[in-house]
Amino acid sequence: AQHLLARAKQHEALGAYLAVNEEATLAQARLADARIAAGERTPLLGVPLAHKDIFVTKDFATTAGSKMLAGYRSPFDATVVQRLAAQGAVSLGKLNCDEFAMGGSNENSAYGPVRNPWDTARVPGGSSGGSAVAVAARLAPAVTGTDTGGSIRQPASFCGVTGIKPTYGRCSRYGMVAFASSLDQAGPMARSAADCAVLLSAMAGPDIDRDSTSLDHPAEDYTAWLGRAREGATAAQPLKGLRIGLPEEFFGEGCAPDVIATVRAALAECEKLGATLVDISLPRTELSIPVYYIIAPAEASSNLSRFDGVKFGHRAAQYGDLVDMYKKSRSEGFGPEVQRRIMIGTYVLSHGYYDAYYLKAQQIRRLIAQDFQSAFAQCDLIAGPVAPTVAWKIGEKSNDPVANYLADIYTLSTSLAGLPGMSVPAGFGEGGLPVGLQLVGNYFQEGPLLQAAHAFQ
Ligand code: GLN
Repeated sequence: AQHLLARAKQHEALGAYLAVNEEATLAQARLADARIAAGERTPLLGVPLAHKDIFVTKDFATTAGSKMLAGYRSPFDATVVQRLAAQGAVSLGKLNCDEFAMGGSNENSAYGPVRNPWDTARVPGGSSGGSAVAVAARLAPAVTGTDTGGSIRQPASFCGVTGIKPTYGRCSRYGMVAFASSLDQAGPMARSAADCAVLLSAMAGPDIDRDSTSLDHPAEDYTAWLGRAREGATAAQPLKGLRIGLPEEFFGEGCAPDVIATVRAALAECEKLGATLVDISLPRTELSIPVYYIIAPAEASSNLSRFDGVKFGHRAAQYGDLVDMYKKSRSEGFGPEVQRRIMIGTYVLSHGYYDAYYLKAQQIRRLIAQDFQSAFAQCDLIAGPVAPTVAWKIGEKSNDPVANYLADIYTLSTSLAGLPGMSVPAGFGEGGLPVGLQLVGNYFQEGPLLQAAHAFQ
């Protein structure tokens, strides 16, 4: 822990950490040492981790990347944080992210951008950009992230690390600052699928008393899947019998040639390992962008109404009446992207527009989920690129919100359907920048996903 804290300081210019508290970290480390000395042996005992600053923590301030929550200290730990701590993990601090997890480049953080260690002029992806960079730059061996529409998978792809977003409801949302509650899901990011399996085993499991959308499905030991051989598999062909579906919509125009070539090469590797590639179709892929960018802002506008400067959040120093206080506090506390989404969300939910936008989006969301079920009749896993390009330059898209939204094309549909998805390093594209291979499974198929990724790695 001491080594990693020193290393984080040395690489401060990357912007990965928002909060550290050496005293608290070392106290947790001493506690782990005492448990080890008492003979306890669990995989995470004494392992230093760091958390996306969207999880509330007692020992560190929580900002969700927003000025609105500057200096906020929670009286409790998020369930995910608490479960990892119960397994003996030691917390190094909190990691930078897009404000309220809204973004895909980490440029929307009120605390400055995070830099991609592969090329510090480029974005690390987002919204879990600090998380991906902490793993890629070896500032932490493993971290937590959250994924609402790609925020674990896309930064993992841009930084060359492994990340998994489990089935919606698999990890408790208790203590996760809410963005879009029907989509938000926590997951681990690490150097390998094997490390992700260790973390996810501790993180997942029911928490129904505190999160009503948490699934009543017992916790699972995902590490058991890693060494387990698939039926009919051999040592040389560990993926034998695995049918991998390739959605034609993920390989068409709009995806950069270097990304397609890298993903195709990784898939050829899977074929050598025994997998069969099957052509499939997810015909409503394009619709996932307008559908997500109606539903997510709608839920965000409702969730963020709590930051009124009274119960929660920044309060303007000077104001007239109550309404003026709300206006000033929220205008000062929220950054431009968050304000844009609150306005979009309020608009699509308003009387007269609800049927045309929100209701329609909900109907198409259901059809998108059905498309996945038809696809899974033909294959066991679905694979494709995570994002249409490698990491872009800092500033390149910062004045163009729609360009940012379009880059989410391959991750949004999985989130809308609530399916588990992961990003596994596939190789390198243009400029030697990392490219991720996205793997998507059916509900509760985290084990087989990690198993396949582990065999590939
Ligand atoms: N990039 C997407 C957005 O801006 C997804 C973010 C996320 O998954 N938190 O909403």
